[in-house]
Amino acid sequence: MLTAKIKDGEVITLNAKAEKIALMDLRKKVKFTCPICSQEVILKMGSKRIPHFAHIRGDACTEQYDRESEYHMLAKLKLFEWLNQQGLSPVLEPYYPNIKQRADIAFKYNDELYCLEFQCSTISEELFRRRTEGYRKLSMHPIWLLAGKGINRKNSSLASLSSFHYLFANKNSSQQWYIPSYCPIINQFIFLKTIVPVSVRNSFLAIEMKPLERTSLLDLLNPDGNYKFRPEQWSKEIFKFKISLLTHKSTTYYPFLRELYRQSLNPQLLHPIVGVPLTNNIILESSPFIWQAYVYIDHLHHQSIGTPLYLHALVKTTWQRVNKGQIKLRNLPNIRELLLRELLYEYLIFLRKAGVLQKQKEHEFVIAKELKAASTMDEWKQQEKGLRKLLLMMTEE
Ligand SMILES: [Zn+2]
Repeated sequence: MLTAKIKDGEVITLNAKAEKIALMDLRKKVKFTCPICSQEVILKMGSKRIPHFAHIRGDACTEQYDRESEYHMLAKLKLFEWLNQQGLSPVLEPYYPNIKQRADIAFKYNDELYCLEFQCSTISEELFRRRTEGYRKLSMHPIWLLAGKGINRKNSSLASLSSFHYLFANKNSSQQWYIPSYCPIINQFIFLKTIVPVSVRNSFLAIEMKPLERTSLLDLLNPDGNYKFRPEQWSKEIFKFKISLLTHKSTTYYPFLRELYRQSLNPQLLHPIVGVPLTNNIILESSPFIWQAYVYIDHLHHQSIGTPLYLHALVKTTWQRVNKGQIKLRNLPNIRELLLRELLYEYLIFLRKAGVLQKQKEHEFVIAKELKAASTMDEWKQQEKGLRKLLLMMTEE
């Protein structure tokens, strides 16, 4: 901990400006107590570690707060100073007894209350959600910052993210998904931007590093950028996903494959409009190849030209598949509304651009083109080429 109480409830903060000699002097004169449990704490000052407070006796508080790493404390101090320099009068480690939560830093911006949570260790989705709800009960906006270590990059535009990483996902004002992260060692924010998952873990994204001193609070609250990856990279990953589907050792994908085979559909030859990148793909944990294949089975396969297709029908069948466990939703605690409808609408619009559908009214379409599954791999490659051309056109829009 970096804060403790001295007499009369006055709180002392070990921020970057606190001088060691003054602190040593103070240590001789006063007794420090924990702002949360009021037990005595001691001021620890070594030559290597950041000065901090620790409980004397082991209790519940110790479990929760004393195990903070050096990395975490360093991040807090630097972020605190960063907010301070922007004139936001931040408070370090404020404790809120009503919700029994202690934030890393709190501050006010544009008459709104914010708190910053820098998360180093993996916590459960449930705890993440509970803390988020707690702050919201106090009308605070929590900003979750992922510790900038342990992001597993596969190449410049693809990274493997865990379900813990996805908890930090948020949307910017241009409706693009991002994850904010910070590393106190290199003193930079690391923004994962325009996140479009291709499978449960792998996501297309752009990584932007931004030094703390060149980043404003607004950059953190609403990171800009609308990165576009190359369609052939996407196609390659979808292709890989299909291979993994067929060679996967576990039985996870059996029900999905069984359903395709029952419809005499070969996953390798399925029309390439199944498995396309969409802005809101992130809201489903299931790969776009899987959920779009279900949409294909439910609404496009063997449908003749002129057959109507309504958004609400699509929403209904997708929910049925979610309830059966065939399609999995992703846990995104930062986002309050469920965006399944938006995602499905985005897919319909995509299908319209691909000439598969024609728009009648706002949420009403008709089938404009019969989709034929390819009968050979060569034929499929031709279809795929056409789709890539469309994706390229869309990225240039
Ligand atoms: Zn305590």
